[in-house]
Amino acid sequence: MKVLNKTIQEHGGIDVVVNNIGYGLLGVVEELSVEDIQNIYEVKVFGESNVLRHTNPYLRAQGSGLVLNISSYLGYSALGAFSQSLHNQYSFNGNENQSLYEEIFLSTWAKYDCGRPTSIRYIQFDDNYYQKHKKNYDTLIIPKNEKILFHGTPNTCLIINCGRCSACGIKESGFKISFSGKNISFSRFGRGIYLAPNSSKANDYNNNQNFNYRCTIVSKVNLGNSVRLFNTNQQISLPNGYHSVHGQAGFDLNYDEYVVYNEKQVLPIGVFIYVIS
Ligand SMILES: [Zn+2]
Repeated sequence: MKVLNKTIQEHGGIDVVVNNIGYGLLGVVEELSVEDIQNIYEVKVFGESNVLRHTNPYLRAQGSGLVLNISSYLGYSALGAFSQSLHNQYSFNGNENQSLYEEIFLSTWAKYDCGRPTSIRYIQFDDNYYQKHKKNYDTLIIPKNEKILFHGTPNTCLIINCGRCSACGIKESGFKISFSGKNISFSRFGRGIYLAPNSSKANDYNNNQNFNYRCTIVSKVNLGNSVRLFNTNQQISLPNGYHSVHGQAGFDLNYDEYVVYNEKQVLPIGVFIYVIS
């Protein structure tokens, strides 16, 4: 807390929080003392939590910031005589990456008549795919107005890289304007890319009733200047100076939705896989 206050005082604020804790503990289980094990937990698990416990409220209040948690491959894989490092790294990964994403997913789940999501897992898209989209996203020059939005998939692909199913089709082509709006009668605001602010709305697109696993693609979307519309109108053309439509619930729509007409505005980042119960 002291360090945090001093940093804010001296530098005027915090933009980036980096948790870069390194602690290897070599030894088979029976060789390690209780203190050895307590120490590694103290540094890596509690140390990391303490940093976030103090910095998160600050970042939330200012409405921006970046948290970088540097992990290790021991969080995913095993290594002989590193049992405690391994144990520990799993705690670290579980704590941060998964729970933060889960928080986003659950906080936007708006309705309960379609069930509740459980066993939520976030899987980041591979770097090649991400960088390909990021390049386009970064070249777009419009006012920055970013939102995390969801895109439903009709089926569930548990790895979302089989390359043959419709969920994989959306991942590969669903964020291209040329592939969107084929079914124009369904395209309420014209030919664009439709995204939902509610994870539960995206869930509705899954039509596999016999399989209770679901997947939903999550994207970072730059909406630019967004025009708010209540009445769906298939012939829409964006008024001058606007870059997206915010279809607002209440009149024609039951749930809010966003539409962009330039694929560079969408940066798909990963997928949520979950069980609906
Ligand atoms: Zn697939």
